[in-house]
Amino acid sequence: MTRNLAGAEPPAGSSTGPVLVDTHCHLDFPEFDPDRDQVVEAARAAGVAAMITIGVDVASSRRAVDLAERYAGVYAAVGIHPHSAEEATPAALKELRGLAGHPRVVAVGEIGLDYHRGRAGEVAQKRALRAQLELAAEFGLPVIIHQRDAVDDLWALLTAPATPRVPGVLHCFSAGPQWAMRWAEAGWFVGLDGPVTFKNGEDARAVARAVPLDRLLVETDAPFLAPHPHRGRRNQPAWVRLVAERIAQERGLSLEELAARTTANAVRLFRLPLPGAGGTDPAAGRPNQR
Ligand SMILES: [Zn+2]
Ligand SMILES: [Zn+2]
Repeated sequence: MTRNLAGAEPPAGSSTGPVLVDTHCHLDFPEFDPDRDQVVEAARAAGVAAMITIGVDVASSRRAVDLAERYAGVYAAVGIHPHSAEEATPAALKELRGLAGHPRVVAVGEIGLDYHRGRAGEVAQKRALRAQLELAAEFGLPVIIHQRDAVDDLWALLTAPATPRVPGVLHCFSAGPQWAMRWAEAGWFVGLDGPVTFKNGEDARAVARAVPLDRLLVETDAPFLAPHPHRGRRNQPAWVRLVAERIAQERGLSLEELAARTTANAVRLFRLPLPGAGGTDPAAGRPNQR
């Protein structure tokens, strides 16, 4: 498949509003069961040309692939979240391997380390992360990394000589501007979401100002982390625009410029054939047929 790498152009024939990519949402979660079609439609209407729905375990990864087959503009990531690291058995990893080659799968994730809640042991988390980095390398896919209260261990693991080098994003970045710069300099993307809009989100805004523009991605983590003024409600991909607006404001850029740059980054990292943007995605611009 020839993939369009330009990405920053608005879809041909549409109005010239900013085109965004929600690089991290969980469309398979039950919060969207009542109105999933409308949620996807609202995102498209808000200029969200692509959404990546992220697996957190084998079952949700399978649902993510199903959704990516069903909706144009929706792509899937498959992976086992660190909270579920104890579930990353050889059998589970084999199932993930069966999904990773699907043409609508654009990343392995979310994977990583989370010591905040301690829902899985640190040894199990590291083992699951390593196994899934190897899976990503095997399939030539980027990774979506979840990190909380584990940044030193994550850095050590990802920079260890035995770890396969794969491109990726540290999503929902929460380790402050110094760490963000360090990751960006090492070639990683940094994903920002609702907290940049929160009253107490100064840390995230400092990251938003510090990260080089060619390393920045926008996301929602929907149904979680709804941006201001919707904080506390169910989040949705359409609201990635509020995240982008706030980052643009922090950087003194227009929304159009910020959208063009972050969308180009997402297209580059995930090799997205954006609907209508000149790609050859057979599903572009219409619902998929199963
Ligand atoms: Zn996460
Ligand atoms: Zn997530």
